[in-house]
Amino acid sequence: MKELSMAQLQEYLKLKYDNGQTSTGLFMKLVEEVGEVAEVINQLEGRKAHTDTHSLEKELVDVIHYTVAIASINNIDLSSAIIEKDKQASVKYNQTPDLETFLS
Ligand SMILES: [Mg+2]
Repeated sequence: MKELSMAQLQEYLKLKYDNGQTSTGLFMKLVEEVGEVAEVINQLEGRKAHTDTHSLEKELVDVIHYTVAIASINNIDLSSAIIEKDKQASVKYNQTPDLETFLS
C-alpha cells in the first residue's frame, strides 16, 4: 500500500474540487457523510437493524475526504493547522506531549 501524506491528499482534492465547487456544496456532502457514519455506528451497536450497505471504514474515509476538500479549496494547510490547534489544546488541557513534540 502506498504512503499518503496530508499535503498530497490536499493537492489532489484541490485539483479535483477547485473548479467552482463551493465550500457550502462540499459541506452539505460532509454532513451527509457524517450521517452515514452515525447510521453505521447505530447498526454496529445494535440500535438499528443491520443493512450491510455501508462500512464504518468507508464512511469515515468519506468524512475525511470532504473535510480535507473544504480545507484544500480554502488554501488551509491542514498539517500546520492540526499541529497548531493541538498545541493550543495541549496548553489548555495541560497535556503532554503535544503533537509537534510527539513527531520530533
Ligand atoms: Mg458515504
